[in-house]
Amino acid sequence: MAEQKIPYKIYLEESEMPKAWYNVRADMKNKPAPLLNPGTHQPMTAEELSVVFCDELVQQELDNTNAYIEIPQEIRDFYKMYRPSPLVRAYCLEKKLQTPAKIYYKFEGNNTSGSHKLNSAIAQAYYAKKQGLKGVTTETGAGQWGTALSMACSYFDLDCKVFMVKVSYEQKPFRREVMRTYGASVTPSPSETTEVGRRILAAHPGTTGSLGCAISEAVEVAVGTPGYRYVLGSVLNQVLLHQSVIGLETKAALDKYNIKPDIIIGCAGGGSNLGGLISPFMGEKLRGEADYRIIAVEPASCPSFTRGVYAYDFCDTGMVCPLAKMYTLGSDFIPSANHAGGLRYHGMSSVLSQLYDDGLMEATSVEQTSVFQAAEQFARVEGILPAPESSHAIRVAIDEAMKCKETGEEKTIVFGLTGTGYFDMVAYEKFHNGEMSDYIPTDEELAEARAKLPKV
Ligand SMILES: *Cc1c(COP(=O)(O)O)cnc(C)c1O
Repeated sequence: MAEQKIPYKIYLEESEMPKAWYNVRADMKNKPAPLLNPGTHQPMTAEELSVVFCDELVQQELDNTNAYIEIPQEIRDFYKMYRPSPLVRAYCLEKKLQTPAKIYYKFEGNNTSGSHKLNSAIAQAYYAKKQGLKGVTTETGAGQWGTALSMACSYFDLDCKVFMVKVSYEQKPFRREVMRTYGASVTPSPSETTEVGRRILAAHPGTTGSLGCAISEAVEVAVGTPGYRYVLGSVLNQVLLHQSVIGLETKAALDKYNIKPDIIIGCAGGGSNLGGLISPFMGEKLRGEADYRIIAVEPASCPSFTRGVYAYDFCDTGMVCPLAKMYTLGSDFIPSANHAGGLRYHGMSSVLSQLYDDGLMEATSVEQTSVFQAAEQFARVEGILPAPESSHAIRVAIDEAMKCKETGEEKTIVFGLTGTGYFDMVAYEKFHNGEMSDYIPTDEELAEARAKLPKV
């Protein structure tokens, strides 16, 4: 009976919203490996990093000790426009599945950018503005990050230059127009406007681009233009820190009703939403206060955790960025052209890589047709049209709920619903027309990209 009291949506009062981000690195015994200078293979110093990134973000990137970092009031005020995001009890999905499992999802798609990426974009834009910079450069794949950053930059009156992976630039013209609405300039990558772009185009004529290429171009422009810095929407420690707002809100909402999750599930591209969602729960696990099963879900066509190696690698194709130790497929790896589900980055957050290597979380990979099946199943009962990325988490949440149906266990499952899929209708169309296929890279293909890892 007590269960009836749990509302469909658990909201927090404004006064209950987090006032500080939680830095899970402070509680990790084995800290994530430091970024290395690609030339000397020595840890990057704050001074070296500040050529590329804003000063305060460099401090956050290197901070392995402070567990809580205050969220500046200006950022909290911006968060209030679209946060707290709802934690939804998926009663309708549970009913449809006839599962005894209790399923909750944290929905991050309630803002114009349509995803969680705004949580970090607004923080990064704020620190750039505070430093008196003119603007920032970045890359975007499917366009969610570029959109979020454009919104954040227009709010703080900063210039925003986005390098957009060429295939997405061509396939998702509406994303591009959203970014331009917010005042950003959008260049398809690889482009002729940078040295590294010209180099990549010469080596791979006709390439449709990759996140790795776009990062190289954005970094080159940031370093070469006075008053500009580069910002990144995932992978980095600072981004996971900002995204901890997702997990802190989730935990506060669950605590209100004394709910203890058994399983926490999130999709993993570069790891920022998952890292953010699990942070406070992982903190409890690291401090020995509680235990949770934590599952990262990645595409079978870009399986960094499940088939990658834990090694230092380049973060970008042009090899201009620092080296990061992570689960990686090799910076040369480009997912097959038929892959439509997002989460295309070759590597994974150093924080999550270390936690995974220490056996504190699990990872699994899923094929895209089964991801779209789950997306459709979810959309039809829960009323939200999910992003393909988010649907990786839906797939595994449904699978776990169906296991509960077999065993009769009433497990509590929480998953991250990172965004909406309105700009992904071409992929949905392919799925509906039966034109979507699954591609799993062969061991030989993976070995080829892995052979090019730097020797550190
Ligand atoms: C970018 C994105 C992701 C993946 O990025 P992470 O850094 O792994 O969180 C997942 N879902 C949506 C909707 C996104 O836009």
